[in-house]
Amino acid sequence: MAKTTKRIGPRKGKLPEVALDSPIVEEDLPLKFVHYPNHYGAFFMFSSALRKEAYFCECCYEAVNNSFKLVQYESKNNWSDEKVAAPLSSHLFPNGISKASLKTDWSKLLRFKKKLCHRCIMATPTLRFCHEMYGGNFKQYYGWYLHIPEQFDPLFRSKLTPHSGTS
Ligand SMILES: [Zn+2]
Repeated sequence: MAKTTKRIGPRKGKLPEVALDSPIVEEDLPLKFVHYPNHYGAFFMFSSALRKEAYFCECCYEAVNNSFKLVQYESKNNWSDEKVAAPLSSHLFPNGISKASLKTDWSKLLRFKKKLCHRCIMATPTLRFCHEMYGGNFKQYYGWYLHIPEQFDPLFRSKLTPHSGTS
């Protein structure tokens, strides 16, 4: 990504809020309801209406499937929130699907559709991944998408950005 990131986000006024507790907001995407992951999570889901079925973007297919390796680790720990150790851990996934995965066979919850996400549509999320103290412009707006390759797709990471640790 040689492009400058200075123009990402609003030019003036208040910065958008940081997405903390898996909010659902309406954005200008093919499926307008955007289910954010929890703070520092990884995977978005998208639905056409609030109560309609939510989908992952197909570009995350491999990463979602790889994520189960990590969840095996989560389930060995005692978390006060049962969603963390759910088959679809709330550390990575939106709260809705995480909760559902406690009761339903998770393989039935994984639905994918092509070109739904900010990355594929080249849209900027309306909420931020982190506060400006914890990351530059690119990380603030696309941190989730960086998080995916960092954890699950090293090949993709090397194409996207040089690994920059916590910055
Ligand atoms: Zn995508």
